Amino acid sequence: MITVAELWTRLDALAAPLPSERIALATALGRILDEAILAPEDQPPFDRSAIDGYLVHADQAPGLVTLVGTVTPGSPPPDAAPALGTALRILTGSALPPDSAALVMQEDTRPAVHSGQRELLQPASARHIRRRASQARTGDRLLSSGQRLTSGGLALLASLGVPQPLVHRRVRVAHLVTGGELVAPDAIPLPGQIRDSNSTLIAALLVEAGAELCWHRRVADARSSTAEALAEALASTADIILISGGASVGDHDHTGALLAEFGFKIHCDKVASRPGKPFIAASLEGRLAFGLPGNPLAHFVCFHLFVKRVLALLAGTAPTYLIRATLDEDSLLEDNPRETWWPACLSHANNTKLVITPLPWRDSSDLTVLALADALVRIPPGGTTQLQLDVLPCR
Ligand code: AMP
Ligand code: MG
Repeated sequence: MITVAELWTRLDALAAPLPSERIALATALGRILDEAILAPEDQPPFDRSAIDGYLVHADQAPGLVTLVGTVTPGSPPPDAAPALGTALRILTGSALPPDSAALVMQEDTRPAVHSGQRELLQPASARHIRRRASQARTGDRLLSSGQRLTSGGLALLASLGVPQPLVHRRVRVAHLVTGGELVAPDAIPLPGQIRDSNSTLIAALLVEAGAELCWHRRVADARSSTAEALAEALASTADIILISGGASVGDHDHTGALLAEFGFKIHCDKVASRPGKPFIAASLEGRLAFGLPGNPLAHFVCFHLFVKRVLALLAGTAPTYLIRATLDEDSLLEDNPRETWWPACLSHANNTKLVITPLPWRDSSDLTVLALADALVRIPPGGTTQLQLDVLPCR
């Protein structure tokens, strides 16, 4: 049985980033960039007004000025600043002349007796000029390769004129669910049956991870039907094959043996973690397959510890890092010889300190705690009295 850290090292060596493609900005949310984005020109590219008000000469003093025109956003800048004693009405975002320009806010002026004049109550100021290159200079790196594209990142690309960023292909996942006891969520289970919740769990976790579920099937426990479904999954375009249930040593646990029969190299069949001990990781010609224990909480833990890590690496980015947080209550944590990944909630105390609240859970089938957990807190083998612990965020 290997440790979680040892398995991470093995998986990291197996998971190489997928090839890249250019795609439309509108479809790139959540994708991982495979190019650095440099500013093609200064940002902003020209001096502009940050206010509605009046464009005047830099030496203009308070008092009456004669209005000689209007500058609007989108029109070319005036050739020169207005002469002393005159002003141009200006709107936010308008381009400014090359030099000697200054602004007076609308709120710092008032109407004059003559409609062609305005009274300035404050001297001219450069404070409200948004200067060319004040955010970035031509050639500055604004986004890095390996960065996940957020909504803000997409907006930046739009403003820079990058309508088709180079991003890694989305990871495609096939999900095979095993278990003769399972029925669909909309079915009424007969005595002894239960509803399949792992299919819903995995589909949602894949959306969160930015991966694509390209194939899904549920089969009963017979070896032949599992083998047939696995062959179908292998014939799909999936980069990763997930098999739910049947990862242990029971009479119906065929995952490990079938993967080996199909030619997969088995890298691990048990990992020293709680929950989630029966966990199979295998590879064949660049493809990875994982056998996850059927219990839903174990499923969640194994996905976040191992599958999500591999999804991130294939997608071309770094896995979610462990963070340190302070335990707000230590009484819930029992000792166990195995390393435990305890379901928990992360929050901020007084808007500063990151606090981890462990949740009560009965066993690895506990879906009630699963609905609340947004983190897993690592309890070292044998327990701990420390209040500062490693946490894996699961959002
Ligand atoms: P297994 O790993 O197949 O031995 O299953 C372990 C436990 O998880 C059993 O109690 C199963 O009934 C339960 N289980 C397996 N698959 C699912 C699923 N898709 N949804 C909910 N529970 C499941
Ligand atoms: Mg089963």
